[in-house]
Amino acid sequence: MKPVVAIVGRPNVGKSTLFNRITRSRDALVDDFPGVTRDRHYADTMWNEKEFTLIDTGGFLLSDDDVFATEIRQHVEIAVDEADVVVLVLDGRSGLSPFDTDLADILRRSEKKVFYLINKVENNSQRHAMPEFYSLGVDKFYSVSAEHGIGISDFMDDLANAL
Ligand code: GDP
Ligand code: MG
Repeated sequence: MKPVVAIVGRPNVGKSTLFNRITRSRDALVDDFPGVTRDRHYADTMWNEKEFTLIDTGGFLLSDDDVFATEIRQHVEIAVDEADVVVLVLDGRSGLSPFDTDLADILRRSEKKVFYLINKVENNSQRHAMPEFYSLGVDKFYSVSAEHGIGISDFMDDLANAL
């Protein structure tokens, strides 16, 4: 069994963009299993010769706020159960949301290895907007732009080392 890496985070933070960035560049074999894993995407991929299965826990497109929060938690809990390593994606443009704090709490309790990414960081003013994320009590953040490929290889080197 290859190690499993799950990408989690609230909607629109860039999970799918990150998933595509990592897998597309490696010509990954993307498998969707209809039904059981309705709104997740799996790909077997590799980085620095480490093979792993990447999961995109996307597809939270519900409008009702309560269902929405519950669904996110459920997805994250399932993903975390399956995963060896979890990547929590945060949004450097919209900033910290209560959902992020919720998810960070769930992940902390899981005692899995977690990487914290602040996505959509494309210039220095966004870099300076990051201190609010330190209230999550996390030691290390990776600031990245999944869309533009900034910071991804440094993050992926560390991720591959942890597998
Ligand atoms: P998901 O809901 O977490 O899967 O988020 P998506 O990957 O679908 O991205 C949500 C939106 O954010 C899309 O409009 C993306 O183009 C945009 N986005 C994703 N990554 C970045 C990034 O690194 N920088 C910027 N500026 N936008 C991004
Ligand atoms: Mg998505």
